Amino acid sequence: LHSKLPDVGTTIFTRMSALAREHGAINLSQGFPDFPAPEGLRQALARHALEGHNQYAPMIGEAALREQVALQLQNFRGVAADPTEEITIVPGATEGLFCAIMALVGRDDEVILLDPSYDSYEPAVRLAGGRAVHVPLNNRDFSVDWERVTGALSPRSRMIVINSPHNPTGAVLSHSDLETLQALAEQHDLLVVSDEVYEHLVFDGARHHSVLQYPALRARSVAVYSFGKTYGVTGWKTGYCVAPAAITAELRKVHQFNCFVGVTPVQLALADFMAAEPAYPAALPAFYQAKRDLLQRALAPSRFRLRPSPGTYFQLLDYGAISDEPDHQLCERWTREHGVASIPISIFYQAPPQQHFLRLCFAKQDEQLLRAAEVLCRI
Ligand code: PMP
Ligand code: GLN
Repeated sequence: LHSKLPDVGTTIFTRMSALAREHGAINLSQGFPDFPAPEGLRQALARHALEGHNQYAPMIGEAALREQVALQLQNFRGVAADPTEEITIVPGATEGLFCAIMALVGRDDEVILLDPSYDSYEPAVRLAGGRAVHVPLNNRDFSVDWERVTGALSPRSRMIVINSPHNPTGAVLSHSDLETLQALAEQHDLLVVSDEVYEHLVFDGARHHSVLQYPALRARSVAVYSFGKTYGVTGWKTGYCVAPAAITAELRKVHQFNCFVGVTPVQLALADFMAAEPAYPAALPAFYQAKRDLLQRALAPSRFRLRPSPGTYFQLLDYGAISDEPDHQLCERWTREHGVASIPISIFYQAPPQQHFLRLCFAKQDEQLLRAAEVLCRI
């Protein structure tokens, strides 16, 4: 059989979660909360299903949810977006990213990816017929080396994909990064796909900067979000894309023949919850920062070196002082032998640098984080 993605296997998240289950390990690998989503949100889903809201939603998403998204963008980012022309509800950010890339990348177009890059970007670029051009982040602090990005541009460059807060490193782009990107995108006529699924998980009083807040980026970007992250319901697979009308129209052409629509009662439940609790995302930084700090304190006596985690619900550990083993091998072995599952970082690179990083997810109950830390401190 001719494979269109011969080098692609099952995602690391699926594999590590399966291995964790198989060995009864504490699963700090795949990014999802192990605690319940808000009760009001779960009740709203049950209510809508029971009331019979179980047939197709409109292709672009339920109006009530698109309106809540527009309100939230206004309240949290000071950004105006038209719920009819510019906001599309998608069955998960993964689908939104895929549709954006499929719709906008043509044969032999080049797309800049910043490594380590989330695993779904490159396959989408390739399936669209494009070519991924990988530019590594600075190894010291995972900041963007804009000179290197500029050096990687060619007449075929069509798009750059950014992700802030960044999975897997937790790095957060600054205002000056976005200004640089804005100048670069204008100068080289680049489209931008901005993966902002962790927009509300920014710590230590810092702020998230969205492409939607920079006029020239607003005009050429698709910003992609996930209700799964913000409301702790990754299994509901619902997100949204925000883009100017002309770009949105192209994205919707792909979306309608890929998934057609998202899940109706889930959309209606999210709309009800957002209307009832508009300030809910504002509480997320303190909630997740407390978890990050708990994990960091508990790991302080260990032999790991902890990297700063200014955003997301991920923490990188440098195990260089403990072992030289390649990270994917070590992750699997420690899941089996120590009962703690994590994610190796090398899989997010085209050319992994010489480094020894594991990613832990701290969207877990405190007791699980402490149990995992206790094990890791003994290694
Ligand atoms: N982008 C990044 C950076 C992510 O970490 C995730 C996580 N799951 C996604 C996209 C996909 O989100 P969703 O589950 O809504 O498809
Ligand atoms: N984004 C999640 C993570 O980084 C996983 C989502 C998935 O399994 N595809 O862990």
